[in-house]
Amino acid sequence: MIEAVISLGANLGDARGTIRGAIQALAQTTGICLKAVSGLYGTAPVGGVEQPDFVNAIAIVETALDPQELLGVLQSIELRWHRTRQVRWGPRTLDLDMVTYGALVSDDPALTLPHPRAHERAFVLVPWLEIDPRAQLPGWGAVAHLLDELSHEGVTMLPNP
Ligand code: ADP
Ligand code: MG
Repeated sequence: MIEAVISLGANLGDARGTIRGAIQALAQTTGICLKAVSGLYGTAPVGGVEQPDFVNAIAIVETALDPQELLGVLQSIELRWHRTRQVRWGPRTLDLDMVTYGALVSDDPALTLPHPRAHERAFVLVPWLEIDPRAQLPGWGAVAHLLDELSHEGVTMLPNP
């Protein structure tokens, strides 16, 4: 079994419900064992595009799937929510990214590992650190260290439920 880290994000419709549903879908997939799930975080969109805040979370899984198979699972879960989207050409209702797959490093554009922007995204690293204080991003080092250099502004844990 390989440990993989999955980033979840949504900013349309019932974003919290979508993230919870996607976590449940991951947990129910053959070959995937959910090890830890972060709290849900509200994060301000960056880049100046007018759109709702995001809800982000991190899931740590152990998987018997190979990297391509795991990516296929993530994309099929995304599709379930894309189909129900209401706003044509609007922001996607669900984004699932593979942050890491074990210590694998790949520059394949179809599956870049670790995820090429994870090291600079507080909305990925803050929830990851919450559930794994010793987290390491292959090629980049300790997540705690990376976060020292980043603003956590705009990344706040949402109250339960
Ligand atoms: P974003 O970069 O905003 O997540 P998309 O989710 O639309 O954009 O990108 C999906 C594409 O990114 C897919 O075609 C997939 O093959 C590719 N990709 C490359 N590396 C990864 C990764 N680590 N996790 C998820 N998708 C990846
Ligand atoms: Mg994506």
